[in-house]
Amino acid sequence: MNQLAEFLFPELGARGAIVEFDEGIDAMLGSRPYPPDVRRLLGQAVAAMPLLAANTKFEGRMSLQFQGQGALRMLVAQIESSLQVRGMAKCDAGAQGNFEALMGGGLLGLLLEPARGEQNYQAMVAIEGGSLAAALEHYYAHSEQIPSLMRLAVGDGRIRGIVLQRLPLGEKHSSPANWEHLAALFATLGEDELAATDAATILRRLFHAETLRLFEPRPVHLACRCNRRSIATMLLSLGENELHEHIAEHGRFDVTCEFCGRQYLFTAADVDELLLAARTQPGTSTRH
Ligand SMILES: [Zn+2]
Repeated sequence: MNQLAEFLFPELGARGAIVEFDEGIDAMLGSRPYPPDVRRLLGQAVAAMPLLAANTKFEGRMSLQFQGQGALRMLVAQIESSLQVRGMAKCDAGAQGNFEALMGGGLLGLLLEPARGEQNYQAMVAIEGGSLAAALEHYYAHSEQIPSLMRLAVGDGRIRGIVLQRLPLGEKHSSPANWEHLAALFATLGEDELAATDAATILRRLFHAETLRLFEPRPVHLACRCNRRSIATMLLSLGENELHEHIAEHGRFDVTCEFCGRQYLFTAADVDELLLAARTQPGTSTRH
């Protein structure tokens, strides 16, 4: 099952979220033959997205975007307000190594695109701490001033993630001592254990002695949001002249979704039909 569950420690002044993906992993991460280390890192980025979206009121799209100079050239994971997640990477066939080897020297950013047309917001995440989870912990600690602990794990057919956050000091029961207590419990959780275990069992094992309020889990989806209509809109945005030139040269458009690898074919007749529809339908237009 794919789901996100938020939880609260009412007596310790902290909250958290745990996410589990068991479905759609091969369809999303298997669309390209990613090397194992890249697949693991991409899976971790996918796990991070619902955790970043949990406990926020943000409405829109959140993306974790990496650009590198080495064997891993690009990695993107996105989540919509509907908790639909997708991810992709571009890398050399021989890309391998840990977080620092793959991402060191590159740029990692968190992009927020609000649904209601407000300004986009981008923040840089320092590549430090030895793992993607540690880098995101640093990001929360420095930019948001919230102590956080995160684990991201990818196993055989499973993606898991968990985050703990201290509530701001001054809120009930939020204190350095309570946070240290939770951090000590959290530190016993290894990546392999997280990858191999369901969320309910993890929470029980880690926090069985604490009062934990678990909220109703919400479904998350690991699926691309591309479709023929969105690809058609993208084609129309190229402009009529460009479309005609491409058709004259190649006879057709073959468009491959960069995320899921799905292929879309538009013949010359399809393109004519798109242009005709764009001309006759108010609200859609092409550039000339
Ligand atoms: Zn797609």
